[in-house]
Amino acid sequence: MLRGVTTLREPLIRALGAKNGKALESIFGLRTVGDLLRHYPRRYYTRGELTDLSALRDGDHVTVLARVVSVRDHPLPSLPGQGRRGRTEVVVTDERAKLVLTFFFKGNFRPGYLRPLVPGMVGMFAGTVSTFRRQRQLVHPECELLPGAAPNSDLTAELAAEFATEMLPVYPASAKFSSWSIAKAIKTVLGTLDTGEDPLPAELRERYGLIERAVAIRAIHRPLDEADLAQARNRLKWDEAFTLQAALAQRRLAAAALPAMPRPPAQGGIADSFDAALPFTLTAGQVAVGETIAGDLACAFPMHRLLQGEVGSGKTVIAIRAMLQVVDAGGQAALLAPTEVLAQQHYRSVTDMLGPLAQRGQLGSAEHATGVTLLTGSVGAAARRAALTDVFTGDAGIIIGTHALLEEQVQFADLGLVVIDEQHRFGVEQRDALRAKAADNRPHVLVMTATPIPRTVAMTVYGDLETSTLTELPAGRSAIATHVVPAADKPRFLERAWERVREEVGRGRQAYVVCPRIGDSAGGDDNDGADYPEGDDFSDADVDEDVPGALPRGVAQGRRQPLAVLDVAAALDAGPLAGLRLGVLHGRLHPEEKDRVMREFSAGRLDVLVATTVIEVGVDVPNATVMVIMDAERYGVSQLHQLRGRVGRGSAAGLCLLVSEAPPASPARERLDAVAATLDGFALSRLDLEQRREGDVLGAAQAGRQSSLRLLRLLSDEDLIRQAREDATAVVVADPDLAGHPALRAAIDDLLGVQAEYLDKT
Ligand code: ADP
Ligand code: MG
Repeated sequence: MLRGVTTLREPLIRALGAKNGKALESIFGLRTVGDLLRHYPRRYYTRGELTDLSALRDGDHVTVLARVVSVRDHPLPSLPGQGRRGRTEVVVTDERAKLVLTFFFKGNFRPGYLRPLVPGMVGMFAGTVSTFRRQRQLVHPECELLPGAAPNSDLTAELAAEFATEMLPVYPASAKFSSWSIAKAIKTVLGTLDTGEDPLPAELRERYGLIERAVAIRAIHRPLDEADLAQARNRLKWDEAFTLQAALAQRRLAAAALPAMPRPPAQGGIADSFDAALPFTLTAGQVAVGETIAGDLACAFPMHRLLQGEVGSGKTVIAIRAMLQVVDAGGQAALLAPTEVLAQQHYRSVTDMLGPLAQRGQLGSAEHATGVTLLTGSVGAAARRAALTDVFTGDAGIIIGTHALLEEQVQFADLGLVVIDEQHRFGVEQRDALRAKAADNRPHVLVMTATPIPRTVAMTVYGDLETSTLTELPAGRSAIATHVVPAADKPRFLERAWERVREEVGRGRQAYVVCPRIGDSAGGDDNDGADYPEGDDFSDADVDEDVPGALPRGVAQGRRQPLAVLDVAAALDAGPLAGLRLGVLHGRLHPEEKDRVMREFSAGRLDVLVATTVIEVGVDVPNATVMVIMDAERYGVSQLHQLRGRVGRGSAAGLCLLVSEAPPASPARERLDAVAATLDGFALSRLDLEQRREGDVLGAAQAGRQSSLRLLRLLSDEDLIRQAREDATAVVVADPDLAGHPALRAAIDDLLGVQAEYLDKT
C-alpha cells in the first residue's frame, strides 16, 4: 500500500492536523514542514549529563534534565465536607543542587500520572521556576522520563523507542508547546518525509565532503553522536549560505545587466567649485573612495555601492560630491534620509556648503548653480507643489527627503543617483521603490550605513552591493571618553555627571541627555527606538531560557519603567540642571517643532537637549561635547556607539556617560564596559552580533522580515560564507536562471520564502 508522502512545502496543518499545526504557527511562526524541520534543537542532552540546577532563576521557563531523589506526599488537614487534599513533592537533583517539583492534589493521594516518578529515574521536567521556602521549585511541571530504570512505565516504553540514541534534542519551546511535543511532531513528519532532490550540486558536495540533505535533516534532529551532528550542521549551514548567496548573485547579475546612464565627472563644473570651497582637506580615505565612486558613476551599468565608515568619518561629504558629479552630467540626485530631523539637517548643510551654487535661477547665483529641494512629510501644501514641480522639470538637481520621496506623485526629470543614508532604517523594498523612479535607465545607488559592520555581514545583508570603507577620522578630532555611571550602587557618581554637564555648559558647550522612552503616554508607541525597550535582551518572551548565563529578563532592573524624556527633563529642570536652557526632542513632536528645536540647539540657544534616539543617526552639532545616556543597558552596543558619535564632532574632547542600574558583573553591565573600553566601531559591531541572535541583525536590515538563517553564524562561519559566495556566484554566472539546477531554484524559493519576493523584483 502506498503511504502518503510529506514534502517540505506541505502546510503543518495538513501534516500534523489543525490543532498542532495552528499552535506551531501561532507560537513559533512555523507554517510548513520545512519550517518545522528548520526549528533546530537548541542543544542536546547527553544521557548522564544533568542540568546545572544552581543556575536556575525565578521566572525562567526551563526544561531541565535531572534525577529523581525522593517522592513525598504532604496531606493537608481535610476541611469539613471536603475530601483529602495536599501536595506531592518530588525532589530531583543534578547530583549537586536540588529542585522541588510540586504537584497539588485533591482526593486520592498521588495521582496516577505521578506513578512513574520513582527515585533513580532520570527525566526532563519543564516549567516556570519559582521559590517557595527558599527552595527552587517547578509547580506542576511537565515530565518526561528517559528510558532507564523504572519498571512498567508506559512513558518509559514510549521514550525508549523515541530516543534510541544517546543524544536528546532540546528544542526552543514554550509553556504551551513543550520540547518533547516538538520532538514528537518532528518525528511524525520525518516518518513520511520526501525531501526531493538535493539542491547542492553533487560536484560541490563531493568537493567539500558534505553529506546529503535528506540525511542531514534527519541527523540534526536525531544525531547518533557528536560527529554525526557536526556533519549534519555543516551540511545545513552550507544550504543556508549557498542558497542565500546564489539568490544574491542572481540579483547582482540581473542588476549589472541593466543599462545605466554614465555620469562622468566634468571639468570646471559645480563639483569642482564645491571642492574648491570646502573648508577642510579631505582625508586620504575620502579621496580614495571618492575616486572609486566617480569611476562607478562614469560606467554604463548601475553602481550598487555600500559606503561604510566609522561614526564621524565624513560620509556625507562623499555623498554630496557624488551627487554634484551627477548634476554636472545633467542628471538629478536624490538623498533619502531616515528621519525628518536628519533630512532637514542634510538640507541645511548642503545649501550652506553650496552657497550661491545652490541658488539656481536666483539673482547673483553662480553660473553652474543647481536647485536644492527638500521634500518631507511636513512640507506645506504650496511648498510641496513647488518642490514637486522642480523635481519634475529638473530645476531641482538635488532632492533631499524622507520616505515622502517614495510617494507616487514624486516624478523625476532624470534621476541619475540615489543616495540612501543610514541604511539600517530602510528595507530593501524602499531602496527598490526609489530606484524604480528612474525612467528607462537604472539610477546609480550609494548606500551609507550608520554603523560599521563586519565583512561577512556586509556580504550577507548587503550581498548585492560592492563595499567601500572609511577607516580614518578627519584630523583634529579628539577622542571621546566614555564612562559607566553605576547609578544604583554609586548615586554620588550620577550627581557628579550632572556637575560635569554644568561645567561644560559653563564653558559654552552643549549637552545631550538621552532616555529610552518619551513618557506621558497612554502606552503604545512610547519607546522611540531603544533597542531593548523591555529590557528583555535577546530572548523571545515565551521561549525557554535554560541557558545558564543568559540575561535576566528585567529581573535585575526590578521591572521599573525605563526613564522617559519628559520626566527626566522636568526633574533636571527642577533639580541638578536648574537654570540651564533645556529643550526636548522626541518622535511624537510635530515635525516643525522637531526642526525648530534642532535649529535652536544647533544655533546654541539651548544648552541641553533631552531626547530619545531620534538624535542617534547623523545629527551633527560640533559644539555639543557631553552626552549622558540614561538606562544605557536598554540600548544595543552599536546603538550606543552611534549615539556617542554625536559628541565627537568638534575639536573639543567629547564625554559620554552611560548611566545604568545594571549590577556590576551582569551581562548588561559587561556590554556597557565594552562600549566604554573601545572606540572601534567594527569591534563593537562584532560584539553586538555575537550577543544578539543572527536573525535580529538580518531582520532589522531586511525590513523586519524573519531571517532565513538558523545555523549560520556570520562571524564564526566567515570562511564558509566566503567559499559559498564564490561557488554560488560561479554556478549563477554559468547558469543565470538556474535552468540546470531546478532543486537549487526551488531551495531559493523555499529557504528564503518571502525574501525571494524582493530578490526577484529587481
Ligand atoms: P558620518 O560619517 O558620521 O556621517 P559626517 O559626514 O556627518 O559623518 O561628518 C562629520 C563631520 O565631519 C561633519 O561636520 C563634516 O563636515 C566633518 N568633516 C567631514 N570630512 C572632514 C574632513 N576631511 N576634515 C574635517 N572635517 C570633516
Ligand atoms: Mg552621517
